[in-house]
Amino acid sequence: MLSVENIDVVYHHTVQALRGMSLDVPKGKIVALLGSNGAGKTTTLKTASNLVQLENGHVREGRIRFKDQNIAQLSADALVHQGLFHIREGRRIFSELTVDDNLVAASYALKGRNIRPDYEKIYSFFPRLKERRKQVAGYLSGGEQQMLAFGRAMIAAPEMILMDEPSLGLAPKIITEIFDTIRRLNADDGITILLVEQNAHLAFSIADYSYIMESGQIVMEGRSEKLRDDPDVRSFYLGVG
Ligand code: ATP
Repeated sequence: MLSVENIDVVYHHTVQALRGMSLDVPKGKIVALLGSNGAGKTTTLKTASNLVQLENGHVREGRIRFKDQNIAQLSADALVHQGLFHIREGRRIFSELTVDDNLVAASYALKGRNIRPDYEKIYSFFPRLKERRKQVAGYLSGGEQQMLAFGRAMIAAPEMILMDEPSLGLAPKIITEIFDTIRRLNADDGITILLVEQNAHLAFSIADYSYIMESGQIVMEGRSEKLRDDPDVRSFYLGVG
């Protein structure tokens, strides 16, 4: 569904963040992208949703295709219309608006698409958000804000979601809930997912296939259950063996 082929990205004409980066995300799957700080995971997502230009970065080489179309020239808004939604680092909800109004604002993505926003579906998926629907989003807990970020994505009726460390800063119990939600988005709604995650245990527990990147390129890839047993992965990324 998404294919990134041999991409080089350079920021400010000096910092090379990606070098020959390639990955594939097949329709209906959950794929994880792992790696240490600064490896280039966020840049890979931003490249797929055409956001690197906003940060004075540019794509020097390579191709990006979504649903077999070249998407290199499409804006992030146009990509949402095509069915690709990026939940960015830090969740990016509107903290001054209520939960309801955050969802209404997200429904703008449906303009001209002949799809009606299904708020009740979101609230049945996330009963906790329903209880807090009149509350200003800035006062929600971290886990609730992440659920709202998922709700905003779901309103846009995406075929694929790019997720940047949804577990960041959350307590273990809440992380379990968030990961259950990701599984449901995939299994019940058929949404294809590319998930950036620093915690290899979590990534392997959810993803069909995982990529590990370092210094802007893929250094290892495979089915998650296979990578989990690899001796190097066990000592470098899982802290065992
Ligand atoms: P983290 O897990 O710490 O978020 P990451 O794997 O997501 O890291 P990126 O954020 O993609 O890594 O960064 C890759 C490289 O590009 C790093 O060396 C980083 O310093 C650099 N970089 C990222 N964004 C910019 C920017 N806007 N301007 C300049 N350099 C940047």
